[in-house]
Amino acid sequence: MKKGKVYLIGAGPGDLGLITVRGLDLIKSCDIIIYDYLANPRLLDFVKPGAEIIYVGKKGGDHTLPQDKINELLVRKAAEGKNIARLKGGDPYVFGRGGEEAEELIEAGLAFEVVPGVTSGVAGPAYAGIPVTHRSATSSLAFITGHEDPDKEESSLQWDKIATGVGTLVFYMGVKNLPMITANLIRHGRSPQTPVALVRWGTTPQQQTWVGTLETISAIAEREKVAPPTLIVVGEVVNFREKLNWFENRPLFGRRIIVTRARAQASDFSQKLEELGASVHEFPTIETKDPESWAPFDAAMARCGTYDWLIFTSVNGVGYLLKRLKETGRDIRDLAGPRICAIGKKTAEAAEAVGMRVTLVPEEFRAEGILEVIGDVKGKKVLIPRALEAREILPEELTKRGALVDVVPAYRTMRPAGKKEEMLKLIREGGLDMVTFTSSSTVTNFTAMFEPSELPDVIKNLTAASIGPITTETALKAGFTVSAMPKVYTIDALIGSIVEFYERQKS
Ligand code: SAH
Repeated sequence: MKKGKVYLIGAGPGDLGLITVRGLDLIKSCDIIIYDYLANPRLLDFVKPGAEIIYVGKKGGDHTLPQDKINELLVRKAAEGKNIARLKGGDPYVFGRGGEEAEELIEAGLAFEVVPGVTSGVAGPAYAGIPVTHRSATSSLAFITGHEDPDKEESSLQWDKIATGVGTLVFYMGVKNLPMITANLIRHGRSPQTPVALVRWGTTPQQQTWVGTLETISAIAEREKVAPPTLIVVGEVVNFREKLNWFENRPLFGRRIIVTRARAQASDFSQKLEELGASVHEFPTIETKDPESWAPFDAAMARCGTYDWLIFTSVNGVGYLLKRLKETGRDIRDLAGPRICAIGKKTAEAAEAVGMRVTLVPEEFRAEGILEVIGDVKGKKVLIPRALEAREILPEELTKRGALVDVVPAYRTMRPAGKKEEMLKLIREGGLDMVTFTSSSTVTNFTAMFEPSELPDVIKNLTAASIGPITTETALKAGFTVSAMPKVYTIDALIGSIVEFYERQKS
């Protein structure tokens, strides 16, 4: 039997984007993914369907699976002919025991490859505003394990050489031994005034940084209860943080925001919030599915040429229309005839992206807006493919003005089985700051996820951001405090209003 290959892959320091192209390609193609505590679990979203995912832990020493068992697992699975992505935080060969795993594989006659990663000891400081080398401050750099047992008689570290012989010192796994480390450095000749930074969960939205000196940092760490995973950075380079702290200075850094949109639409919104520094918790409250029956939709499509207007009220409407056209052997050429109207810029963009020419995009991003701009519709035939359960105002008003309106369900919205318990726990612990509502139905669906007895806690602990007046009204009625709402009802403007809210709060 053909034997599998093991890829020892550096997953990077935490920020999803800091994995290599090679590493991500392998995650996408391997049969088995074996990952550690420090590898960003969101990398698992990229595995191929059917891939086996195994967590082997390693949280501050209490190994979910001991190293020899991990080695055994790698050998066994590879011998079965499976290709394995062995994902390790940072770089696999920097305090990652990657070398040991590689040795085991060689011994077992198995092929392996190393995909280096961005090590946390460089990236964590960088995201904390600290360049590990700088011409004006240091010309050498050491990565050091801080894991040594403090009671060990003979240290394997040559403290006298480390203390004064190297410019920047980066200690991994050292936060518990911080008093021992700083004492050793001072005793062996490093100035007590040498700046020191502690970087916890570097490159992630949870990143925290503390700065002191060799003399003061231990007390700071104790007071602040600094726990792993934390890097200790010693050296003059720490001073650059004052100038170069780009990551923590982003406008939404440290803000923990719930995104309630439907799964498919959430990522763009979430990504934009994350780019501004927010820690985003996606809590999909609606999920879209095919309508119970496609018959009305198919019938409407068959006579598409007879309509004067085709109105899309959402990106989903466009998406499901295309999906169904494809399923029934049609394509957008079958939409010849009606002019196309799209409510909201995003909807128009979605239609235009697939080659439809959109004649009308109402400036007002609500269904009401369309009535102001569509002109005379008397006797005109209008087709609206949309969610089964949507507000009736648009078809009703068009009908009142003499239009012949066909509303055909193109999809249904449903409540997904969510991760409610986990979210509720976080909310109660004060671990989340804001909930975002992008439509009235997101408010209704969000509140419906909780028991009536749980709701007061949810409402008390979260402030809300709402996309527009109707959504705000629904949120206020539900009891939320709405602290951010944009003037135009787009996601970008909503994000702008969230940034403004937090800026106001700061000042
Ligand atoms: N191979 C990893 C290091 C594993 S040792 C790498 O190259 O980064 C584990 C130690 O790495 C932790 O105790 C901590 O000191 C450090 N570490 C890893 N990821 C970190 C992060 N995101 N923020 C701060 N320290 C981190």
